[in-house]
Amino acid sequence: IDAPTSIAAPAPVALSYELFPPRSPAASETLWKTIRELEATDPDYVSVTYGASGSNHDTALDLVDRLQLETTLRPLAHLTCVGGSPAELSTVVNELLDRGVRGILALRGDTPRDGVLPHGALRYAQDLIELIRRVELRRSAQFAAGKVAIGVAAYPTKHPESPSEAHDIEVLLAKQRSGADFAITQVFFHTDQYASLLNRARRAGVTIPVIPGIMPLTSVRRIEKLASLSGVRPDASLVDRLRSAGDEAAARRIGIEASVALAEAALEAGAPGLHLYTFNEHEASLEVLARLSLPRPRRPSLAARRRAAH
Ligand code: FAD
Repeated sequence: IDAPTSIAAPAPVALSYELFPPRSPAASETLWKTIRELEATDPDYVSVTYGASGSNHDTALDLVDRLQLETTLRPLAHLTCVGGSPAELSTVVNELLDRGVRGILALRGDTPRDGVLPHGALRYAQDLIELIRRVELRRSAQFAAGKVAIGVAAYPTKHPESPSEAHDIEVLLAKQRSGADFAITQVFFHTDQYASLLNRARRAGVTIPVIPGIMPLTSVRRIEKLASLSGVRPDASLVDRLRSAGDEAAARRIGIEASVALAEAALEAGAPGLHLYTFNEHEASLEVLARLSLPRPRRPSLAARRRAAH
């Protein structure tokens, strides 16, 4: 008699959220409500953005500290480098590692308008990856080398300053060679764009996980803000559908539907996880998640995780 064939459980999908450091005490209060709601979903990590040229250095590090001390969440600290000196950036990397951070998203940030960088300053995200690996090596007497997970940005549509999508793939490959462990994508609006990026990247030799960044598209205002921040052209037909939806609630339903479709298409294409750009609000991200029912690893309850963490 043949042994019964077992049906394999679907592979778990990694889950993460992006938060930005609050700009006021009121914003901090709202953010902490969001953090508590997101914590209950047991993400693999939450990422904390960092202003270009370190403009929010203190609030970013405060948020990272509080996440480590007061929650069960694991922070992934964004760090931008353009225009910074190796000494300044080594100091920030050491500050993060001293706080117990073991994941850094290495980014360039926005270049100054005149494009002029101080002598010796870092220019590209690749320079920051190499700097982080050097700092890690110097500290290897205290910490085993190779313990810092380095993430980088990847682009489903051409980076605004890049000559071509092919060039973006070369840059992603260079970031992998310099020591990146994984990538998170910029926002995208069309369901085929993540699959296309993944195909092009794999063909070029990129082997690291590439995690799609998904933004809950709840209103035209949100989509337009997002497009202006990221330089990614919004989907005109989606904007039209939201505009003609009748009321805010109907527009929100259409937007959430579109975000779910982006996430489903990315998972179908082989995405190993989802990174949700929350805009510091939990409702829309949780709605998207509820619609997806992601296969997640079985983990202890939040109460048990809290007891184990502190
Ligand atoms: P890079 O990889 O350095 O690329 C920048 C440009 O330079 C590209 O056009 C690339 O083609 C070109 N380039 C790179 N390397 C080379 C090379 N060796 N030779 C020639 N050309 C090269 N910004 C913030 O300020 N704070 C944040 O917290 C933040 N978080 C982000 C999170 C994610 C997931 C993403 C996708 C973006 C984030 N950004 C953030 C925005 C990011 O800083 C911008 O997209 C920025 O314009 C480029 O950053 P990068 O790390 O991709 O840069």
